[in-house]
Amino acid sequence: TMQKKVRTRIAPSPTGNLHIGTARTALFNYLFAKKMGGKFIVRIEDTDLERSDKKFEKNILEGLKWLGMEGDEGPSLGGDYGPYRQSERTETYKPCIEKLLSESKAFYCFHSEKELAEEKENLMKSKKHPVHLCEYRNISLEEASILREVKNDHIIRFKNHVGHKITFKDLIRKDLSFDSDLIGDFSIAKRIDVPLYNLAVVVDDEIMEISHIIRGEDHISNTPKQLLLIEALGFKKPAYAHLPLILGPDRSKLSKRHGATSVDEYKDLGYLSESLFNFMALLGWNPGDNREILSKEQLIGLFSMEKVQKSGAIFDLNKLDWMNGEYIRRKSITELAKLSQPFLKVKSKKYLEKILELEQSRIKKLSELPEKVDYFFKKPNVDKDLLRWKNMTDEEIKSSIKRLLELLKENKEQDIKIIEKVFLEEAGKMRDRGQLLWPLRSALSGKKASAGPFE
Ligand code: GLU
Repeated sequence: TMQKKVRTRIAPSPTGNLHIGTARTALFNYLFAKKMGGKFIVRIEDTDLERSDKKFEKNILEGLKWLGMEGDEGPSLGGDYGPYRQSERTETYKPCIEKLLSESKAFYCFHSEKELAEEKENLMKSKKHPVHLCEYRNISLEEASILREVKNDHIIRFKNHVGHKITFKDLIRKDLSFDSDLIGDFSIAKRIDVPLYNLAVVVDDEIMEISHIIRGEDHISNTPKQLLLIEALGFKKPAYAHLPLILGPDRSKLSKRHGATSVDEYKDLGYLSESLFNFMALLGWNPGDNREILSKEQLIGLFSMEKVQKSGAIFDLNKLDWMNGEYIRRKSITELAKLSQPFLKVKSKKYLEKILELEQSRIKKLSELPEKVDYFFKKPNVDKDLLRWKNMTDEEIKSSIKRLLELLKENKEQDIKIIEKVFLEEAGKMRDRGQLLWPLRSALSGKKASAGPFE
């Protein structure tokens, strides 16, 4: 059989900033496409005009770009299958809705929202599934056009089969089966020219020749609906892979309660795009051994859908912190200086680099820098207790400081190597070296923890 070209897509709705969950889905689509020598497409799903906002679209596209996943095709780069915004593709959906209506595979429904809500409530009360099997499902288009004159509102629904099983093979979850009677006559368009998600997504995926739909597990319940539409419209069936949810440490779905959830927040917190990329790849997938630090190229080479886990993936911030530190240490000082500029405003590049040489081995994220090195820019706040090593008395602190000042004065012109030697020798004479070295370091930095005084 001929292997068709792999084309994957991320299809975010611009109703919020780029969420970690969406970015992880994009990443798996990206890795799979690249691994298979295929293409990764970005498509903005802005059919819901009330909730969609250009500022969110901008945030999403910028976030994907920052992560290195701008897409082979998409709103920013264009491509042969454009436009890549649903709002610019409205003409494509209408003929499909018309086709379904004319073939009696879809129909106009005239129930008011109130009626539907009441029906749902009654079904729930009598412990039945809240499924809408519509009374209008068999009316003719002629009858519908008359009703449209007199009824305030209408919606277009798919006329579902009764007593039908919808099955598909998920690349991660294997065989899945759904009962059409638990789905009912679902809505596909608000009006003939206003498609809803399930219809629009199916049409776009067909026209854009998407071969693999890789998305979050929260979309599983949409898949049978989309398969019914695909069949009714005579479209090609793509392969599906539903990714495990991302969970917080308490094993509930990752949300604001757990901390930052959007990619730009992580960027502003001083995480590098490479470490977030690497970290997200391990949210639900691993290479089968315990390697964790993996470059983009390595991840592409190693990625396989078979190794994606079914169970939820726990977002472990400590691990991200560790990983980010590792990536910080792998940077050259010049690169690190560039990345640190938004966090540490230092005019001289040389000076910034010197400061970073001190902290590169210590920090986990760039946002720690201002606090960690503030003593280069302002006099440190030093109180007596900060200067105290173990159980030194106030008198001992005083005499240590006095001695330190004398030594500094005497060796002002000396090379740092000599200064270090002199101070260490002097410290060696004390009951405990810390009695001299601790006050020296803490007085210079104003901190309990910092780079060493000779550094
Ligand atoms: N617009 C949908 C979302 O943001 C995309 C769902 C899909 O991938 O089919 O969740």
